[in-house]
Amino acid sequence: MAKVLCVLYPDPVTGYPPAYARDTIPAITAYPGGQTTPTPVGPLGFKPGELVGCVSGELGLRPYLEKLGHELIVTSDKDGADSEFDRHLADADVVISQPFWPAYLTAERIARAKKLKLALTAGIGSDHVDLQAAAAHGVTVAEETYSNSISVAEHVVMMVLSLVRNYLPAHQIAANGGWNIADCVSRSYDLEGMHFGTIAAGRIGLAVLKRLKPFDVHLHYTQRHRLADEVERELGLTFHETPESLVAACDVINLQTPLYPSTENMFDDRMFEHVKRGSYLINTARGKLCDRDAVVRALNSGKLAGYAGDVWFPQPAPADHPWRTMPFNGMTPHMSGSSLSAQARYAAGTLEILECFFEGRPIRPEYLIVDGGKLAGTGSQSYKLT
Ligand code: NDP
Repeated sequence: MAKVLCVLYPDPVTGYPPAYARDTIPAITAYPGGQTTPTPVGPLGFKPGELVGCVSGELGLRPYLEKLGHELIVTSDKDGADSEFDRHLADADVVISQPFWPAYLTAERIARAKKLKLALTAGIGSDHVDLQAAAAHGVTVAEETYSNSISVAEHVVMMVLSLVRNYLPAHQIAANGGWNIADCVSRSYDLEGMHFGTIAAGRIGLAVLKRLKPFDVHLHYTQRHRLADEVERELGLTFHETPESLVAACDVINLQTPLYPSTENMFDDRMFEHVKRGSYLINTARGKLCDRDAVVRALNSGKLAGYAGDVWFPQPAPADHPWRTMPFNGMTPHMSGSSLSAQARYAAGTLEILECFFEGRPIRPEYLIVDGGKLAGTGSQSYKLT
């Protein structure tokens, strides 16, 4: 019998289940490029479209795990030595956590988790796990690659338009009973004709470029490996060798690299020196890719005209985190990859990975981040240990 320790975000403040706005979600069977959506043997312990990412939703895993006689602990209490997470970690075989409400699996915690064999991310982005320590302790790390990539890409497009067109302040004026159009439009522009660049054009970054193409913007990207010629031609992409070159050329910048030691603080005061005055920066990748206070300084000085994103450090962000109140921000809690549509896919993918793990079948390489003591599968393409 295995112990599965699952850390999920808390239930809605109004109680569980919520009142749903819709009865169904579209059935998606494949991602761009042909990878199939999760294929667990099943049955699923939930109806797609239900809120399963929070504690009472349990990712729909309880029926499957209890039928096999495994123990499932689900909690949102994850921080501090007295947390429920820490109390159960010592004899957990599997930890499931989410980027939205990350149970930080530090090297010290991994050293204490003597029985841990699988650290599963329900979603994408396993930087809350110390990958080096996981590799050293023979812990497999896996995530549901592609499960919420399009969800995030849609969110980025929304944030680009919201910032450039000054949507959020204008909505607030209407909601407050006002009608001063001059106030609404004094910072409102068209996106058409602007230069948009993404730092990383992987699953999400490329999906953003494809979605912005019909807006008649000039599209730019940078990453370590160039995209295929036909993709560059089809989208009319300008490639930059470095992020510094890209930010100097663009009006709107999207940050989409994974977080690993050498991408931490990529946007610091030094990087902002290369940014054009009045640029917009979108970051749905990871909060630590940006120096927290450098972002605030850039907004206050006018270097940035706006900053939007849903990723912070730490998470949950403390009430006095300056990104909650800095000027011209369009921040949300970490939600872009946890729409009800995305949850259906990452919960099904979590079940698929658990089925493979308990039945001794190989986990799809596209889901693997660390395996056999080293980066593996998608992990070896998207991450570095240094
Ligand atoms: P992918 O692995 O598909 O793409 C990552 C891209 O980053 C690759 O194309 C890689 O290209 C590029 N890259 C890696 N290192 C660098 C670097 N140092 N400089 C420039 N480019 C780099 O990941 P996804 O697009 O699916 O996701 C990206 C990140 O988004 C995740 O790691 C996660 O942190 C975040 N995310 C956030 C979510 C949310 O809810 N807000 C949900 C899902 C993901 P190359 O190797 O050529 O450099």
